Amino acid sequence: MKIIVCIKQVPDTTEVKLDPKTGRLIRDGVPSIINPDDKNALEEGLRIKDENPGSTVTVVSMGPPQADVAMREALAMGADEAILISGREFGGSDTWATSYIIATALRKIGDFDIILCGRQAIDGDTAQVGPQIAEQLGIPQITYVQNLKIEGKKVVCERQLEDGYCVMEAEMPVLLTAIKELNTPRYMTPKGIYDAYKKTVQIWGFKDVPVDEAKIGLKGSPTNVNRTFSPEPKGKGEMLEGADRNTVKTLVDKLVEKHLL
Ligand SMILES: Cc1cc2nc3c(=O)[nH]c(=O)nc-3n(C[C@H](O)[C@H](O)[C@H](O)COP(=O)(O)OP(=O)(O)OC[C@H]3O[C@@H](n4cnc5c(N)ncnc54)[C@H](O)[C@@H]3O)c2cc1C
Repeated sequence: MKIIVCIKQVPDTTEVKLDPKTGRLIRDGVPSIINPDDKNALEEGLRIKDENPGSTVTVVSMGPPQADVAMREALAMGADEAILISGREFGGSDTWATSYIIATALRKIGDFDIILCGRQAIDGDTAQVGPQIAEQLGIPQITYVQNLKIEGKKVVCERQLEDGYCVMEAEMPVLLTAIKELNTPRYMTPKGIYDAYKKTVQIWGFKDVPVDEAKIGLKGSPTNVNRTFSPEPKGKGEMLEGADRNTVKTLVDKLVEKHLL
């Protein structure tokens, strides 16, 4: 089985900052990690590989050259091959352009059975890239996967819902998005780390991915992030003590003052 896992390197924080002029993520001074859901996606790919001898796991990421560290970590966890899509031309892509570029690269890799993505990246937070890759490739997708079984050429998944789950199945090739409930990602081993630095991370630049230049980067992106902000922390609440008439009157007065009554 040929398994592909899409991983994104993200700042190790949920409070991302953007340059107000360019809209670019400010990465300086913020350590980077593999997006947490993507580690679950990778773990699942590695589990399938362990249980199906002859299978391979290829990790794919689109990002700046620094994403090499994330690729090495994935190799150290057990991935066989790593491809980093990296080039100035790709910078500024929105989720649509990102998924178009990644889908084009995956088509070039070809012959895949399962594509695993995380549900959501902790910086962009849109949860759009996985489903859009499936759309661009014209293959079925199952999102929010919390349990996965392989039955011949079919996947049978538990898809998490707010109040339970539903069981869905699809023929391969299929794209699945992983949530943290799916598994516990394994640690890198010392030998894995050593081997990871002997392997090659393939870099695919603009000329290696046959994309239409008009559909990528800032110019090719149909959406724009106008503003990003963290909500102001709310002030401390006020507690009224007592269960007498005066306290109730004070409460009512305050609610009227705030136009809540
Ligand atoms: C300069 C700049 C401008 C931008 N402008 C816009 C804009 O105008 N509009 C807009 O919507 N966004 C914009 N973005 C954000 C960009 O679109 C997202 O960072 C990117 O598309 C991923 O979306 P996400 O983080 O929401 O991922 P999600 O959709 O939440 O990620 C889901 C899953 O998809 C996979 N995935 C996501 N990204 C990658 C990746 N790069 N490589 C491999 N796998 C991946 C992972 O498995 C991940 O878990 C901009 C980014 C930059 C750097």
